[in-house]
Amino acid sequence: MTSGRSLDPPWATRRLRSGMFVGVRDGTAPVILQVPPGELTASLGQTCVPSRPWAAGLASAASVGVLLVATATSAWLLAAHGYPDGAALLAPGQPLALSLVLVIVAAVVGSVLHELAHMVLGRARGQSLPRAKVNGRTAVARTNLTHTWVWPFIPRTAAFGGGLAVDLAVLSGALLAAGGRPGAAWLVASVTLLRIAWQLRPHRRTDGRFLLAHLCDDPAVVTTAMGVLRGRALGRPGIRHLLALAAMGAGLLLEGFITYWWGWRLVAQLLHVAG
Ligand SMILES: [Zn+2]
Repeated sequence: MTSGRSLDPPWATRRLRSGMFVGVRDGTAPVILQVPPGELTASLGQTCVPSRPWAAGLASAASVGVLLVATATSAWLLAAHGYPDGAALLAPGQPLALSLVLVIVAAVVGSVLHELAHMVLGRARGQSLPRAKVNGRTAVARTNLTHTWVWPFIPRTAAFGGGLAVDLAVLSGALLAAGGRPGAAWLVASVTLLRIAWQLRPHRRTDGRFLLAHLCDDPAVVTTAMGVLRGRALGRPGIRHLLALAAMGAGLLLEGFITYWWGWRLVAQLLHVAG
């Protein structure tokens, strides 16, 4: 994060709710600027243009709609039928190997659909699709969406939340198909719910953290909140920093529940099946 220095082109910027500016360029983290872009000795907005044709705007609005509808449907079905936990990964009366294959296929297909949503909705006009990086050690894929920081609210929400929208759509479909009964659809619902819970931990570098920063309209909200926690904050913390700290605390708690709901219950079910 920096302020007031001259920037080499090409950069694009947008005014944040805090009155400061966010600047992005290909392959860098977003930079926070305290001066208006006009004062920068840079030619701005050459790449990463936020302006989009009507079709892309419509796709963005539709994906935000899917995010809301699928959240409501999934919440209703989870309340009606209970949630598929680690035990759901092993369907009763089904060979272990078949369950394992189904889990792997559901996880891989789900990941590909998730990243595709980020890539398609995060595509800037006249640019190729943003790249997704796969971490071989953690098997986590991540699409670079830095350039979307300068986009208007709806397309930005769609690019950041598109992966989650796809997950929620798959979850509601699988929950509907399963109707609360154990089987393949219930297994897919369990894998997808696990992915969603995993993504909603803002104390890690997940979609949850990026969505939090985006909703606070501050790419530095988590770093600043951590500074507040360590007593190293420059200036007074705002509501958004306290909100970020609360969200990170909730994420930490969620991580504990995930370990129990999926880890421990899977082991218990394995012991039950083996016994
Ligand atoms: Zn994602």
